[in-house]
Amino acid sequence: MERLQKVIAHAGIASRRKAEELILQGRVTVNGKPVTELGVKVQAQRDKIEVDGVPIDKEEPVYFLLYKPSGVISSVSDDRDRKVVTDYLHIEQRVFPIGRLDYDTSGLILLTNDGDFANLLMHPRHQMNKVYVAKVEGTPTKESLKKLERGVMLEDGKTAPAQVKLISGDKKKNTAIVRLSIHEGRNRQVRRMFEAIGHQVLKLKREEYSFLTLKGLNPGDVRPLKPIEVKHLR
Ligand code: URA
Repeated sequence: MERLQKVIAHAGIASRRKAEELILQGRVTVNGKPVTELGVKVQAQRDKIEVDGVPIDKEEPVYFLLYKPSGVISSVSDDRDRKVVTDYLHIEQRVFPIGRLDYDTSGLILLTNDGDFANLLMHPRHQMNKVYVAKVEGTPTKESLKKLERGVMLEDGKTAPAQVKLISGDKKKNTAIVRLSIHEGRNRQVRRMFEAIGHQVLKLKREEYSFLTLKGLNPGDVRPLKPIEVKHLR
């Protein structure tokens, strides 16, 4: 016997946490009966488990890379009807984003229906290298950039060492472009890191996620990950 949320995550419907939400939202039935409590145990092979009326063992795992445009929510639905990342995939499988980019951030985001894979990539021990390019207000000094490199104190703790490079500065417009490479993935981390050194982020793009890049893609483009890429990310 296994916990219901674990079986759902295993089937590739959602991450473990998302599976718990699905249960609490009353969207899961076991042998035709709604289950809304966490902790219920089931037998994956014998019990008939459905999410929104669809048996969970129907879906093949799929993996996609999306060049998320700015102005899109990293979610599968939005109560204010704004565009969401899954709007860019026209497939039957119910995929969800692995982690998130802010509404105003563009760039590389992965989507899958494989809950275990998503959990693996989001686990702190498995944190991938991520490269961001930020357009910031003003031009950070060498000393400020060194601070980012060494780690800055945010309200949820000091950031881990980062790689930082000033790409260019525009004196007239009073802006600069900075490339930042980090492993952590805290909420609004890059924006908060720049705020900590006194520079507001005006534009933010994630260009790399581990060995994956946006090469050949335009905002809104999606491509399936190659099996070898999925293998290397695991
Ligand atoms: N850091 C941020 O501040 N925003 C993102 O979307 C991603 C990383």
